Amino acid sequence: MYETVIVGGGAAGISCALSAAAEGANVLLLEKTNELGGTVKKALIHTIGGLFDDQGEFLNTGIPMELAQRSGDACSYTQKRRIGKTWVLNVNPSTYADVIMDWIKSRSNIEVRYAATVTATSVDAGRIEQIRVAHNGSTTEIYPHALVDTTGNASIVRQVDTGLVEDGAAMGGFIVQLRGLAHGALQFPKGAGILMRIRKAVDNGELPPECSTVWLDTGVYPDEAYAKFSVSQEDCDEVHMGLAGQQLLAFLRTLLGFSDAFISKCGAPCSRDAGRIKGEYCLTERDILSGTRFPDAACRASWPIEHWHPKTGISLEYLPPGHDYDIPLRSLQVAGFSNLWAAGKCLSAEPRAQASARVAGTCWAMGEAVGKHITG
Ligand SMILES: Cc1cc2nc3c(=O)[nH]c(=O)nc-3n(C[C@H](O)[C@H](O)[C@H](O)COP(=O)(O)OP(=O)(O)OC[C@H]3O[C@@H](n4cnc5c(N)ncnc54)[C@H](O)[C@@H]3O)c2cc1C
Repeated sequence: MYETVIVGGGAAGISCALSAAAEGANVLLLEKTNELGGTVKKALIHTIGGLFDDQGEFLNTGIPMELAQRSGDACSYTQKRRIGKTWVLNVNPSTYADVIMDWIKSRSNIEVRYAATVTATSVDAGRIEQIRVAHNGSTTEIYPHALVDTTGNASIVRQVDTGLVEDGAAMGGFIVQLRGLAHGALQFPKGAGILMRIRKAVDNGELPPECSTVWLDTGVYPDEAYAKFSVSQEDCDEVHMGLAGQQLLAFLRTLLGFSDAFISKCGAPCSRDAGRIKGEYCLTERDILSGTRFPDAACRASWPIEHWHPKTGISLEYLPPGHDYDIPLRSLQVAGFSNLWAAGKCLSAEPRAQASARVAGTCWAMGEAVGKHITG
């Protein structure tokens, strides 16, 4: 009954489901939590990277372009925005979540099961023959035509064979959404001055060490800002980080323009790289820097190598002007399998290649390509 089973309702999974459904497949989308949206929704990402090249033109048309259009239609504050040498879509994470819910609901051949996952798989001659799906306290056996792991952590592929997954190699993050700021409170050069005051407050013990690498970004609405904390994979404790967010807020409220600021939402601490599949091809840093073209190109990407190294912290390497690269379908196909795929941040890539390819807009493009390929 279901030709296509997609596990994980984040950027890549939603796009993959929409794409496979558009090709006429009956799609089962499994999500382990009670909501769609993945990292963008739960971590509070408001700057979708990977949709545009360095001139602000769409890198990929189709579903990623439609996402931008739908997000703009849903909220007039959604804007294309220049950050450094890149362009992003500035969108409120709640608007993003509403857009994808409406979009998914409009496709009658996509069934979404929440609090659901795959608990067992059986393999025969390089094919996933059968899967067991747990949902609502019962299990169902399904014989999928294709199984796509869009879990962001390759957990389904790991279940098939742990040897088919590389462990993650990046720092995570924790984001706090602030509202109630005076207009222009972070306007240049005020933002830089505030960051210096935060660093100084950490040095003299007024603020906890967790605030030492905090970054403040303007939001989507005029009274909004996002405070972004870096966290190690081991230190992703929501309560602990929530406390650091409260302490930061108390400090900010003493500064000009922040007296009425409040925490509107705390994101969940999330990992930027929670494991990558071993695919038929592993995308390399060299492919990215040299702009390798592949005959089986799934999509184009051009985000800088934004590597949150677990020990040395963030490094940002821009690609040359006008440069983009291909992500081949083989880096989304699990090695040795004909019907087991992955899309999104758990693609097959070197850590520094993943550090470019993992941005949400690129995950949308990968998902679309896999959805189309497996149903074509
Ligand atoms: C702190 C931080 C800041 C970031 N900032 C930006 C930014 O500014 N711009 C940008 O474009 N990108 C940013 N990213 C990266 C980007 O958000 C993610 O890489 C991208 O959204 C990943 O999409 P995905 O679909 O691959 O995975 P996810 O969005 O993680 O989706 C995976 C989904 O699978 C579900 N799932 C997991 N395991 C299972 C299972 N076993 N069964 C069923 N469901 C399962 C999860 O609940 C989740 O809904 C950031 C990431 C982090 C962590």
